Parts: sequence; structure tokens; C-alpha cells
Amino acid sequence: MHRKSLSTELRWFFVCFIAIVFVGASFDFWREAALITVSAYLIWHISRLSKLEDWVYRARNGSIDPNNLSGVTGEIAEDVLLLTQRHSKEKARLQTVVTRIQEMTTALTDSVILADSRGHTEWWNNAATHMIGLQEIDLGHPLTNIVRDPRFQQYFDAQNYDEPLEMESFRNGGRHLLFEVHPYGNGERLITVRDVTRVAKLEHMRRDFVANVSHELRTPLTVIRGYVETLQSLPSLNPTLEKALKQMEQQGLRMTSLVNDLIVLTKLETDDRSTQSDNVKVRDLVDLIFNDGRAVSDSEHNYINDVDPSLLLRGNEKELRSAFSNLIINAVKYASNDSQVPARIRVYSELSDTKIRLSVEDNGAGIDPKHIPRLTERFYRVDAGRSSSAGGTGLGLAIVKHVLIRHDAHLNITSKLGSGSTFTCEFPKERIVNSV
Ligand code: ADP
Repeated sequence: MHRKSLSTELRWFFVCFIAIVFVGASFDFWREAALITVSAYLIWHISRLSKLEDWVYRARNGSIDPNNLSGVTGEIAEDVLLLTQRHSKEKARLQTVVTRIQEMTTALTDSVILADSRGHTEWWNNAATHMIGLQEIDLGHPLTNIVRDPRFQQYFDAQNYDEPLEMESFRNGGRHLLFEVHPYGNGERLITVRDVTRVAKLEHMRRDFVANVSHELRTPLTVIRGYVETLQSLPSLNPTLEKALKQMEQQGLRMTSLVNDLIVLTKLETDDRSTQSDNVKVRDLVDLIFNDGRAVSDSEHNYINDVDPSLLLRGNEKELRSAFSNLIINAVKYASNDSQVPARIRVYSELSDTKIRLSVEDNGAGIDPKHIPRLTERFYRVDAGRSSSAGGTGLGLAIVKHVLIRHDAHLNITSKLGSGSTFTCEFPKERIVNSV
């Protein structure tokens, strides 16, 4: 849409042009008259354009007075002035927001760091200066050069931020830091760091307490079980006493398993990774555990070992035996009660591009899917009565989970009520020593 002054100007130009051409025509030089008129108009315009350009230049340096200009250029200058004022207001408003956010993040006790898509630092709050030691000269440098810890480097570069990273502070050995990375925008990352020293200390105390109590309980339990055994061997016991001693023996056995499992679990929890590295022949290990299974249950179970005979897994043999033993003995314990359907326990291996899967499958009662996410929690039982009568401690799957974490592996459980269960241990392929 034309401006009002532009329409007026054009109208005047055409009136003048026609008048001059008309006068020119009466003297027989209308072409020259038209040319002179257009040229004059053009020269006038160029001079105005130059004035506008001069005004824009001065406006850029702070002197902005649109009154110096008139007509169309005056109106354009006024609009530019309006836009500039609007822009300044918006800039001031955004500046206030940025200042408020900066004040808020300064008040935070947690560190907040912004890194660009290459992982180079862009901004951080005050807490990051104290906690991580970020200085002004670190701006624009890779964060992994500042947080110099291989575990952080691996975590930050792996780009898998589902779980936070907890580690001892690289600057102050006594403190524990929790790193969380939140990707946003175009590959940029927001990193928060929380001091979790108090929680880590409490966790440490809890672990020590459980380990100490379990160790302290071992000796009195052994003594009590010894006396129960001695009393049971006495001749001519009355039936009531005999029944009581039988129950004491069973409960003593259960308590011993519980204490032993607790000791194993606290040992596993102490470090994140298993340092011992054996070449474990999984098929032979499974055969040995099947023998234990036959000893645990008198029933005629069908044991099938379909593990690749050439599979050698790199790991801690004792821990792996404990994990597979828990899974296979569970399959034996919770095997089918139905005399029509014989219980079947099958262990098999599967190799994919990146993983080696070892599964323990049974055709037992199965587990309602709603329980599956909680099965690896300590003392979580689907059916407490059945589990206790089967001699369970409620710690077996928690032990499996920790052994697998220490071997860079994880447990997958699939089950359907009435159709049995499959417990699959997924190891990274790098754990295979030799498989044909
Ligand atoms: P428990 O010592 O009680 O067996 P676990 O941690 O080994 O403890 O197992 C937790 C619970 O998971 C068990 O109480 C049982 O209810 C269920 N569970 C484990 N394995 C199986 C299985 N193969 N079939 C059915 N339920 C199972």
C-alpha cells in the first residue's frame, strides 16, 4: 500500500508532467519538455535519497531527528524511528529476563553449566566456579578438559544420559558429585552438578551397618544350629520337642541363607565393577548348577542346556556362578506344580550383532507383569508365603542385578501368568572371549 505522501507526490508529478508536456507541445518540443521534467524529478529524488542515507548514518550514531526530512523520506524515517524504539524496549525487557535468570541461578547451590554441541563451555553459574573450579579462561573450552576424570569423559562422550553419573569429586576427594546432562536445542547440553556427599555417606553407613550385622550374626547362628543338631541326635525325644527342633533347624537354615545373601550383596555393592577376570565356560557352569538344582528338588525336572559349547565369557567366575545359580534355582523352586505338565528348565545362549544373551526359561506359574519392574528390589516377593516355603530370602534377584551391573550387563524379565518366565542376562559382545 502506498503512503499518503507518496500518492500526493505522484499525483503532483503527473499533473506537472502533463502540463509541461502540453506547454512544450504548443512550441513543438514536447519530447524535450518530457525529458527535462523526468530528469528534474529524478535529480530531486536522488538528492532526497542522499539526505535519507545521511539521516540513517547519523541515526546509527545516536542523532535521530526525523524532522530533518520531509515527505516520503520523512515518513520512512519516522517508521524506522518507531521500529528502533520498539526494538530497544524489547531488548531492555529481554535483558531484564536474562538478569533475573542469572540472579536466580546464582542463588542455586547446584552447579549449572551450558555447553555447545561440541561440548565446549558457553556459560555457568557461581556454584560451578566453586564446585568444578570453572574460571573465565575456561570459556569456550571442552568441558572434559576441565572435569578431568575418565569416568566423566566416557559418560559425557557416550551421549546416553538416561542415568546420572555419581563420582568422587576430582578436586576434593572427600566430596561426592552427581552429574546430570540434559540435551536441548541443536545438540547443546545443560549440565547440572549436585553435591550428594551427605547421601553418599549415609549410603556408606547403611552398607557398613548391614555388612557388620550380617557378620556378627554368623557366629551365634552357627552355635545355635550346632546345639539344635546335637539336641536332635539325642535318643528318645518326645514328639513335641522333636517338632520344635525340626522347625528351629529349618529357621536356622533360612537365617543362615539370609545372612550369607546379605554379605554377598553388600560385597557386590561396594564397587561398581568386577576387577577379577576369568574365562568362564558358561555351558559347564550351567551343568554344575543343574546338579545343584537336582539336589534342591526331588521332583523329576527336565533340565535342558542349550548354551553354545564354545562360549567363553570374560568375568568373575564366582559372581557369575552366583547369578546363574540364583536364576536356575529360582526356576527349579517356582517350577510347575502341575503333575500333568513336567517342569522344564532350559538355559540357552543367543548371539546378536552387539550382545550375547543368556536366558533361563521355565514353564512354571509365571509372574503377573505388574510385579516385574520391582522383582530385583531387595525382599520383594510376588507371593511371600510361597517364596518362604520354597526357602527364598528375597535377595536372589537383587544379587543377580548387581552381578550383572558389575559385568556391564543387565537383566530382562519376560513372563506371563500360567505360561512360565524367561530371565535373560544381556552381556555386551566384547565380553565374549571365544565363540565359534
Ligand atoms: P526369593 O529368594 O524369594 O526367590 P528372588 O529375589 O530370587 O527371591 O525372587 C523374587 C521373587 O520373584 C520371588 O519371591 C518370586 O515370587 C519371583 N520369582 C523369581 N523367579 C521366579 C520364577 N522363575 N518364576 C516365578 N516367580 C519367580
